[in-house]
Amino acid sequence: MSYENLAGRTAVVTGAASGIGEAVARRLAAEGARVALFARRADRLEAIAGKIRAEGGEALVVAADVTDDASVEAARDRVHETFGPVDLVVNNAGVMLPNPVDDGRLDEWQRMIDTNVTGVLRVVRAFTADLVAAAAEGRTADLVNVSSIGAHAVFPTYAVYGATKAAVTFLSQSLRSEFGPRDVRVTNIEPGLTDTELKNHVDSEELSGQLDGMVEAIGTLAAAEVADVVAYVSSRPRHVNLRQIMVLPTRQA
Ligand code: NDP
Repeated sequence: MSYENLAGRTAVVTGAASGIGEAVARRLAAEGARVALFARRADRLEAIAGKIRAEGGEALVVAADVTDDASVEAARDRVHETFGPVDLVVNNAGVMLPNPVDDGRLDEWQRMIDTNVTGVLRVVRAFTADLVAAAAEGRTADLVNVSSIGAHAVFPTYAVYGATKAAVTFLSQSLRSEFGPRDVRVTNIEPGLTDTELKNHVDSEELSGQLDGMVEAIGTLAAAEVADVVAYVSSRPRHVNLRQIMVLPTRQA
């Protein structure tokens, strides 16, 4: 079965400035979707949009901060003005800030919760009406949330990050009960170690070294390999919903 159900779709990808989000945006555009790229670094988004256009795709750059209500609402309005309503939302923006709980880094906890959980909810709130309307018109409508293996596996110092991802996984399951009856698919993707900029925000040399050791031992997925999963799930016939996918490097338990 081909990925043809993506041609002519209108997608929003959050966290499209690097890593998995960039790869998803490029892949969806290559499959014929119009893609709105959300992230804070507009210069990075412009460069990626340039590559998408050079490959014959359609991209819109929208500087947006998912921790800011007004920014997300303005971003939604900008997409509507340029592309009209959206039928595919990829909630991917996220941050990972490990540290021992004893350090009491409330600043990091709040940033992770606000980006990884409330940020996802802000984006859901902004586009629910679009997704429901698209499905009611008989079109395919997708909400794809990028959670993590960290929603299930326990890693010391990653307690709050894991808790935010467990929240995303649970949210995805719960939203299926509200959206599924209206033919809006909800898919939760849980990647393992993936080669992106996520690790660059780890501020402890020791924890950074631990991560490098894991990468050395296990290897990583390429962001494009996770993007392939997103393209696969969102291109199935509209009555087929892959609810939950864990995608790991083969050596990751
Ligand atoms: P990156 O750091 O490369 O990408 C994160 C993206 O999120 C960037 O584009 C960043 O852009 C954006 N972002 C961060 N904060 C905000 C914000 N407040 N508003 C809008 N955009 C924001 O890492 P990944 O590609 O790895 O991360 C993507 C998702 O994948 C995350 O949710 C992560 O938790 C998840 N994941 C990653 C794994 C991995 O091993 N890499 C494994 C499992 C899950 P900008 O800074 O310009 O805003």
